[in-house]
Amino acid sequence: MSENCLFCKIIKGEIPCDKLYEDEDVFAFRDIAPQAPMHVLIIPKEHLRGPEAVGEANERVMGKLMRVANEIAGKEGQTDYRLVCNNGAVAGQTVFHLHMHIIGGRPLGWPPG
Ligand code: AMP
Repeated sequence: MSENCLFCKIIKGEIPCDKLYEDEDVFAFRDIAPQAPMHVLIIPKEHLRGPEAVGEANERVMGKLMRVANEIAGKEGQTDYRLVCNNGAVAGQTVFHLHMHIIGGRPLGWPPG
């Protein structure tokens, strides 16, 4: 846990969220500013700054993030969706606790802006 991290505070229950999933490794909740009908954030409970901080010790949980993300999308009624993981401010990362966006429920354009 990191003291001043927004997502660590959400995991600890210090900041409310619309939680969809939690286990010993992973936590998922609805994005506060949804960009599509389904917009969920899935995060490791361990505070990792972003993909750049992932090492061999985290590989099991990274795979679990993807498996659980697919399960959440299915429960939300979506088979077609996008997983987005921004790494660094120039790429759009604003919260520096690794997270994947699970976005779907409408046609999604490509490439991103
Ligand atoms: P990123 O820009 O990739 O770092 O994504 C951060 C995401 O966190 C944005 O989509 C925000 O809308 C979302 N967000 C920020 N604060 C909260 C919050 N309190 N609860 C849920 N989502 C949040």
